[in-house]
Amino acid sequence: MKGWVKALLPALSLLIASQALAEGGQSTIELSGTESTVKLAGELTQGSLIRGRAPADSQVWFNDKPLPVAPGGQFVFGIGRDAPLQHELTVQHSGGTDTFALQFSARSYDIQHVEGVAQRYVSPPPEVLARIRQDSVAVRQARTVQSELSYVFEQPVWPAYGRISGVYGSQRVFNGEPRNPHFGLDIAAPIGSPVYAPLSGVVTLAKDLYYSGLTLIVDHGYGVSSTLMHLDAFHVEVGDKVEQGQLVADMGATGRVTGPHLDWRINWQQERLDPALLMPEAAPPAHQP
Ligand SMILES: [Zn+2]
Repeated sequence: MKGWVKALLPALSLLIASQALAEGGQSTIELSGTESTVKLAGELTQGSLIRGRAPADSQVWFNDKPLPVAPGGQFVFGIGRDAPLQHELTVQHSGGTDTFALQFSARSYDIQHVEGVAQRYVSPPPEVLARIRQDSVAVRQARTVQSELSYVFEQPVWPAYGRISGVYGSQRVFNGEPRNPHFGLDIAAPIGSPVYAPLSGVVTLAKDLYYSGLTLIVDHGYGVSSTLMHLDAFHVEVGDKVEQGQLVADMGATGRVTGPHLDWRINWQQERLDPALLMPEAAPPAHQP
């Protein structure tokens, strides 16, 4: 929050998140301040999307960033793969202001060292660099959408059946050079397998991109989106409203991949978060029941 706001609040209390409860598959933390009680659902760890509820008339800041608050007091925020571990949540409403210290835990990621990889796999050819730049602009725009859809506050379903073939945060080091970490959750199944919307929302991008192939982005509200990559075919288009569990695409092997899989990503605006942390089970069923 802004420095002048803080200065007006001499009785500012700094409280530590303590109580951990289990609720609906996700751990819940209750923050009891002198003025308000705030509930957070999610794990306080790197890569986590946290969904909160404050008293209905509250204003909420995550560190210095004001968060949009739903009419019922709900809000969301998240921290990235390598984010610092200490954060603050400030809740202000008619009764006063509470600032809560949030201590996140560090993750350890799967790092693989690979030697002797041919140059052509290491860098994209120069003729596609302009296209890659356009792709990232389109993705960034789709993820900047800030709607008041409230689907983000619901429990996601698995977007595909199959085997987990890649996890969030993993990274390869080619010839001593660290590559971009992997920010999705990979689910492998044959080409043409159904891909479902993990949460309801509105399609904000359906495009063939160099790295991620046929790519679908669905806005779930409050800056949170799902990205579904390497698809073989789309069943929806930009602007479509999709229901949770609706067939939106076929799994594929488009873009830079070694085999057919779905790469599912969760973003809070540009912050890349771990979809697995939102799911009560470690993996989806291997086959459609
Ligand atoms: Zn992937």
